Amino acid sequence: MVTSGNSRDNVRVRTPMRCPICDAALDNVLIRDLGGVTADLIWQLHAGECPEHGWFQTEVISRPPREIFAVDRPFGVARRLVIDGEEIYSFPTVFNDLPPSARRQRVDPFDPKYWRVRHHTNAG
Ligand SMILES: [Zn+2]
Repeated sequence: MVTSGNSRDNVRVRTPMRCPICDAALDNVLIRDLGGVTADLIWQLHAGECPEHGWFQTEVISRPPREIFAVDRPFGVARRLVIDGEEIYSFPTVFNDLPPSARRQRVDPFDPKYWRVRHHTNAG
């Protein structure tokens, strides 16, 4: 794993996150480790760039993320996307859709199956 200088940002790493719009693998993946001091707490920010749809980011706190956000740059501010005329700021994951009892169970926070976004359906 290559780190960028003294910062806690790990670059050239892998993330289970994919573009929530086109499901492409993300480029320029960055992972910021916020857990650090406590070994049993996994707390990370993941950011990555879809060549077509820009930057996305999510937060892992010992469990798979519940939402993936569109951001203006890694660890930046949320940006608004318009898809089929609908404003979207975040993409709920499959994990978010699990019932609370299932969400409380111990799962691998990096299991890609939980990172998939709810399929975006168009009622039209
Ligand atoms: Zn994309």
